[in-house]
Amino acid sequence: MVKNNNISGILYVVATPIGNLEDITFRAVKILKKVDIVAAEDTRHTRKLFSYYGIKTNCVSCYDHNEVAKIPEFIKHLKNGYDISLVSNAGTPLISDPGYKLVKEARKQDIQVIPIPGACAAIAGLSVSGFTTNSFLFLGFVSRKKTKRLKELEQLKYQKSTLIFYESPKRIVSFLMDILAVMDNRPAVLAREITKMHEEYINYNLSDIINILNLRKSVKGECTLFVQGYNSSRAVISDQDLDKKIFKALKNTNVKTSVLSRDFSTKYHLSKKVIYDKIIKLQRDIEDS
Ligand code: SAM
Repeated sequence: MVKNNNISGILYVVATPIGNLEDITFRAVKILKKVDIVAAEDTRHTRKLFSYYGIKTNCVSCYDHNEVAKIPEFIKHLKNGYDISLVSNAGTPLISDPGYKLVKEARKQDIQVIPIPGACAAIAGLSVSGFTTNSFLFLGFVSRKKTKRLKELEQLKYQKSTLIFYESPKRIVSFLMDILAVMDNRPAVLAREITKMHEEYINYNLSDIINILNLRKSVKGECTLFVQGYNSSRAVISDQDLDKKIFKALKNTNVKTSVLSRDFSTKYHLSKKVIYDKIIKLQRDIEDS
């Protein structure tokens, strides 16, 4: 291994697509072609991207369990003037992906670290969520242990920023149920398969999203969840008062049941199904009286 011994190489942190292979910048492709080594989370995965763009750079693995052991080797290459690109399987490395320890060490050793920005599921989904983007909190994956997870959620309950979570499709329903149990029934957006063929955004209250997913045989694909932040001015209503208001609306207007459930659900952040059931029951009471 010989190269310029006086100038250190550059560590590039390169964002790759989160689904659609064309979501990568010209600069990223150029850098991936030009560097000496690509440190990839899964070399087989990265090779698919490489074959799409005709990239022939040497790819070595750098994932959660070997990152620490590989750091000295990468630092040595960088000190010897070799450029390295760090990529993960999807999106921006280090964002719920490996690379933090390598970047930290490179910085410590005064090696230049340069980002090549691009896709990130959290940012892509946030931009279309309809929730406030002025302030958001990226939480990534919360704990899989129920007690710890509930504690983590409890701490987020009064957070006013939009909350962003990554979660596996297998656990998404139980995760939504945990959020519902800890926070109230807030608006949320479940972004599934962003940029892919079966891309979908389910945008309702938490309980409605749970109901929709429960009607499916299984939830498939990659999921990112956006939950509206705490809103202290949100209308809160007791069950009795809600009944009274619905009763009054039914007596005084000819509005369709679906429109009424939507309006009440939006105003009081309650599930449309809960409101709908109440309307049906109260309609029966009115008919019987
Ligand atoms: N570094 C990536 C990024 O920049 O978004 C995220 C990597 S993390 C290991 C993988 C998680 O990101 C998935 O479990 C899912 O929660 C989210 N994710 C990745 N791609 C996605 C997509 N196309 N649609 C929705 N969520 C996605």
